[in-house]
Amino acid sequence: MILLESKPSGFARFQTFSFEFEFYHFMTLPVMPITEFDIITRYFSQAFPKRADVTLGIGDDAALCTIPAEMQLAVAIDTLVEGVHFPTTTRPEDIGYKALAVNLSDMAAMGATPAWMTLALTCPQADEIWLKSFSQGLLELAQAAQVSLIGGDTTHGPLTVTIQIAGYVPPRRALQRRGTQPGDGIYVTGTLGDAGLGLASVQKQVTLPRPAQQFVESRLNRPTPRLPEGQALRGIASSAIDISDGLAADLGHILDASGVGASLQLERLPLSRALREHLSIEAARNLALSAGDDYELCFTVPPSREAALQKALTADSYTHIGIIEKTPGLRCRDAEGRIFTPKQKGYQHFNEK
Ligand code: ADP
Ligand code: MG
Repeated sequence: MILLESKPSGFARFQTFSFEFEFYHFMTLPVMPITEFDIITRYFSQAFPKRADVTLGIGDDAALCTIPAEMQLAVAIDTLVEGVHFPTTTRPEDIGYKALAVNLSDMAAMGATPAWMTLALTCPQADEIWLKSFSQGLLELAQAAQVSLIGGDTTHGPLTVTIQIAGYVPPRRALQRRGTQPGDGIYVTGTLGDAGLGLASVQKQVTLPRPAQQFVESRLNRPTPRLPEGQALRGIASSAIDISDGLAADLGHILDASGVGASLQLERLPLSRALREHLSIEAARNLALSAGDDYELCFTVPPSREAALQKALTADSYTHIGIIEKTPGLRCRDAEGRIFTPKQKGYQHFNEK
């Protein structure tokens, strides 16, 4: 009884409080920053691709997805920190695009098919113009790759974008860093060093004619994840990696994981017209070997599967650049057989120099 009597008064107090809160909220709305929940509903809930295999997406404590029958789950995560992974001048739509592109590149390197992502976004302020552009860049690539945004976390702090990507791959068919053997050919997709020149361009260390500038800066800001190539290489490549820190560093990971060495033929490194026309051959090769952010694939193929490779990829989409050898280490030789040592190793976090 006492309960019944006390309930209405308690309810009334709650109502009053609620009204006051609403009133306060309404009065101050024009100057108040939008809330975490407004950000999620306005920019991250609606427009992203819907997939039949997502039973429960954004809005609950976790998302629920159904992995296709007989497939293995492939998961990767990558963080972009302002001032470390992209210059502070980068357009928000490019940050959104690139945050997903680098994750899709990891799926490509595994030969996996991407399907779902979560987004952990830390921003210094709830700037709606920034958020709108950022989400549009992210959406553009999510739609192209048919990746669904199924959850995330939104926090206040220095600008940091983390995307976790999940996809699937048939069991035992994923491409890995280990597995290559002496005699295997070494290949890369696309051209190398463009993003490195793009970075030099945005940092005003070089001045390029407009078309070359646009090309290299778009290679930096909007890398192309090589998803079709990665999937086509399943059962053909004996190892693979995506080039995020420079060819020498990333091929080095394949060599370490596989317990082998390699020789590269420098004159075979695929260089775009922008690099060939605006840099010395030495500078171009240094970028191709050591500059990060190209997100091309480096992979190896045994001689017995070369014919299969030629069928799987179009001839202009990849280049044969070297051979796997028994002797550990990476040797880069020019056309005359002289050893070439790249100027800098790939970028390493926590490395002072
Ligand atoms: P919880 O406190 O349970 O972790 P949150 O309040 O952080 O939930 O988030 C509410 C819902 O919104 C969750 O489903 C979460 O996955 C989703 N979410 C939060 N931030 C983002 C974001 N940046 N992008 C996509 N979904 C998000
Ligand atoms: Mg949360």
